[in-house]
Amino acid sequence: DAVVHWFKRDLRVKDNTGLSLAGALAKEMGVGVVGVWILSPQDWEAHLVSAAKCDFELRSLEVLQRDLKELDIPLYVGTVEKRKDVPKRLVQLAKEWGVKNVFCNLEYEPDELRREEKLVRLMLEEDINFDPQHDDCVVPPGSLKTGTGRQYAVYTPWYRAWVSHIHTHPELLLERPGPPKNPPFTRQKFAHLFDVPIPDAPETKTLDEETKTRMEKLWPAGETAASERLTRFLDEKVGQYQETRNFPALKSTARVSVHHAAGTLAARTSVRAARDVNSTKKLDSGNGGIRGWMSEVAWRDFYRHVLVHWPYVCMNKPFKHEYTSVAWESSPANFHAWATGRTGYPIVDAAMRCLLHTGYMHNRLRMIAASFLAKHLLLDWRLGEQFFMLHLIDGDFASNNGGWGFSSSAGVDPQPYFRVFNPWLQSEKFDAEGTFIREWVGELRGTVGKGTHAPYEAGGEAARVAKKNGYPKPIVEHKFARARCLERYKEGLGRN
Ligand code: FAD
Repeated sequence: DAVVHWFKRDLRVKDNTGLSLAGALAKEMGVGVVGVWILSPQDWEAHLVSAAKCDFELRSLEVLQRDLKELDIPLYVGTVEKRKDVPKRLVQLAKEWGVKNVFCNLEYEPDELRREEKLVRLMLEEDINFDPQHDDCVVPPGSLKTGTGRQYAVYTPWYRAWVSHIHTHPELLLERPGPPKNPPFTRQKFAHLFDVPIPDAPETKTLDEETKTRMEKLWPAGETAASERLTRFLDEKVGQYQETRNFPALKSTARVSVHHAAGTLAARTSVRAARDVNSTKKLDSGNGGIRGWMSEVAWRDFYRHVLVHWPYVCMNKPFKHEYTSVAWESSPANFHAWATGRTGYPIVDAAMRCLLHTGYMHNRLRMIAASFLAKHLLLDWRLGEQFFMLHLIDGDFASNNGGWGFSSSAGVDPQPYFRVFNPWLQSEKFDAEGTFIREWVGELRGTVGKGTHAPYEAGGEAARVAKKNGYPKPIVEHKFARARCLERYKEGLGRN
């Protein structure tokens, strides 16, 4: 009597492959579409989803419910205690409603793929078609191969292949048509599914009121908010992206990662919109800013392709096996200092405090903060990876794991381990005026120049201000840290 679309990380109506196909089939059959969303708190725990992200998803769900209602599409919203019971619930619902077709979009992590595999079996037993779609990546994982038929492990050649694949398959960027309005009888039959209350986040994932209000202001939820943010960025900022993207104080990036992560914006939509404002309508020519931005969105695809081909990266293992033998330090005190933004390296501390306050960190700062943990403090990068997930509003396993792999050199396409970021030089280069640091490290307001980047090393007035305001001294000495890192990484690799 209906066709179901099961929403997961695709909380939008527009440009949604699974929903679009569900809509087309429903129209052909003369029936309606029913949306389903099933929360399993265990999933959020297992994936270390931050409270900010849970809140964002629930707010986006509310918007989705309203958007669907305009099309007379009901949205079932249910909770199951154990995540292993999600497939059972979905089959139960389909049977209860007499549904023979269920669509969804694929998620690529091993647990999710196993769940979908189970669903195919369960649905088959009930004579239901279960039809998961590629939607999350612009180019579906597995489509790009090196000359010798292998998966790329290096970004640049992969990216060239990605661009040329899209140019030869322009349909990949086509907008998926939205579902039509449901026929009136669906509204009667599923009346009980309209306006059902959206559940609260589980206790462990609940934000306090003040934080919740702040997040709502910083990160408006839902697909209309996403599309407004994207349009504003493309109108005002993308042209200068290449020159400005590395400077956190300029706030010059799109800040749409939260929407890509929750699926309130498809990566396809972003790339298509950027291509359309490019004079050449191509991905690899025309305006440098636009090209550069599309190549950043491509990183998101790249790390998903890596994850699908080498799923062991989801199992707490470094991409490069030889890095399993690095002997990490064990220092809860240093980890705590890093996590709370009290390392005595202002750029690292500003980055961490910004993360804690906003749920977001600029890409350059993610690299600096991650490198500092893995190389200066020589703490296991996986601790940092987890901490980021637990605090980022845009937490996304593949991109986060990829970023941490890159920064610790244990990942795919790595920096060689002997390239160790100097936090002071990074700071002077990418926050030259110290604006970002002073915004987040209140103790250093009133300092300037070198005094902001390295108050104690600069001495004089800056050191006095820092000391008076209780700003910590560096918890590790730079030269010592660099030498220790090189030695320890080398030893680790030598053990293999
Ligand atoms: P823009 O510069 O405007 O880029 C546009 C979009 O491209 C982003 O929204 C994002 O979807 C994608 N993108 C850009 N850079 C990358 C990248 N390096 N890897 C993957 N996708 C990228 N990104 C996440 O979405 N979630 C994470 O959990 C995450 N963790 C990271 C951890 C580390 C250690 C590092 C170094 C990077 C991480 N990134 C992560 C990637 C990147 O920092 C963010 O995507 C970016 O800062 C988001 O801001 P923006 O939307 O303004 O990006």
